[in-house]
Amino acid sequence: MTQLVWFRNDLRLADNAALTAACKAEGPVLACFIVTPEQWQEHDWSPARVHFTLAHANSLARELARLGIPLSFLEARRFSDSIDALADHCREHNIEAVHFNEEYGINERRRDKTVRQQLAASDIQVNKYRDQTVAPVGTILTQQQEPYSVFTPFSRRWRSWIDETQPTLFAAPSPRGDAVEPQQYDRIPTGFEDAPPALVETGEHAAHDQLEAFLNERGGNYREDRDFPAVDGTSQLSPYLAAGILSGRQCLITARQAQGAGGNQEGLSTWVNEIAWRDFYIHILYHYPRVSMHRAFKPETEQLAWNTPGEHFEAWKTGHTGIPIVDAAMRQLNQTGWMHNRLRMITAMFLTKNLFIDWRLGEAYFMSTLVDGFLASNNGGWQWSASTGTDAAPYFRVFNPVTQSERFDPKGEFIRHWVPELQKLDNKRIHDPGKGGVIPKGYPRPIVDLKESRKEAIAKFQALKD
Ligand code: FAD
Repeated sequence: MTQLVWFRNDLRLADNAALTAACKAEGPVLACFIVTPEQWQEHDWSPARVHFTLAHANSLARELARLGIPLSFLEARRFSDSIDALADHCREHNIEAVHFNEEYGINERRRDKTVRQQLAASDIQVNKYRDQTVAPVGTILTQQQEPYSVFTPFSRRWRSWIDETQPTLFAAPSPRGDAVEPQQYDRIPTGFEDAPPALVETGEHAAHDQLEAFLNERGGNYREDRDFPAVDGTSQLSPYLAAGILSGRQCLITARQAQGAGGNQEGLSTWVNEIAWRDFYIHILYHYPRVSMHRAFKPETEQLAWNTPGEHFEAWKTGHTGIPIVDAAMRQLNQTGWMHNRLRMITAMFLTKNLFIDWRLGEAYFMSTLVDGFLASNNGGWQWSASTGTDAAPYFRVFNPVTQSERFDPKGEFIRHWVPELQKLDNKRIHDPGKGGVIPKGYPRPIVDLKESRKEAIAKFQALKD
């Protein structure tokens, strides 16, 4: 019985539920990956993400070929066409069973439902797996069997679920036969040509090397260093996790091994908490499909009358708001396709609270630029920052970007790196150049009054309550 593994955002050999199951079954194993450029455009994929994904799909094809599993690249414009492309491929290769790992965006779910129906009608078995999270979606529920909508109790239950079940890794497949010649996809689809230089190295092995190096060398200091963008304090594993080159389980288990080997318990445990955040937002996407349909998690916030984007939005996107930490962060994003977590929160709050621009515009702009764009986390992070989302933090807790800058980039090193216009300012003035001096030539004055705009935003949220 010929088996087909359909790879999507799980581009890895090791710890892959669908691949392991297909390799356990009888008969030859084939694999495929479907290139869907129009759908990617509609989902705001960035050029950086497309380059990264295709490089890894090629790398996976080479690894699979060594094991005697040929991976075919299929082309379809959109998800709707990919269903036919897959059905044709199954017919051509006499496939009798298809295996894939679930994805939770609404369009992905609709696609998978149709695929199931269409293939079943042709007597092809469809096997899907809950592989994307450490704790499978649907397992972390309250005592009333409801999903959690706040992170802290979710993470408590998540940790006890891990202690109870002791998750293990799926075995990487052993060779299925002689090595085959790998197919490679060498084209970059139109519209995605211009990508920044690669942020991290290509390949599953490179991802594991980066994970181990981080955990052994820097993971112990994560708790102290993670909020300072000028310090190399976080793992930068997000592109690998977003594309499924690494799994959350692998991160958890490797972190626990590092703890067992005497690594700093608190630092590593704080890092594991980030893997819980990732799981939390995937669970939210699964239980509340409205968040992937451009709708607020808190429905009452749909009433907010956001400002027309205009010039303020352009200034935010290009890093010319006159608020140094915001501008430095946006320039980092535009030039590298990545932004530090503390800065994602600062820039998102500035857009939604000080400029009072709709979080959906910021969410889409991030997605169209990030190499690690990941619907669940991006949506979760934006809705958290805009106070339309899951967190218990009240809407009146608005970051002041200047205070954040003084606290998390105290010497202005990060700002100086990305905003050369401000290079000569001292460590105090660099956070707020207009205060106590003349703003350097070529750098804008702040486009908004931080105190006034904060007050106005709070009043608009308060009006919703009244
Ligand atoms: P580390 O600090 O080393 O954390 C390890 C891993 O944990 C990350 O790679 C990531 O997979 C996960 N993680 C860490 N923080 C979070 C978090 N707050 N929420 C969910 N998962 C987390 N993350 C994405 O992967 N893709 C996105 O598109 C994305 N958009 C965001 C948008 C906003 C507005 C905000 C506030 C956060 C967003 N995040 C996103 C979460 C977080 O900023 C990044 O995961 C993190 O900065 C990646 O850097 P790292 O790999 O060095 O993280």
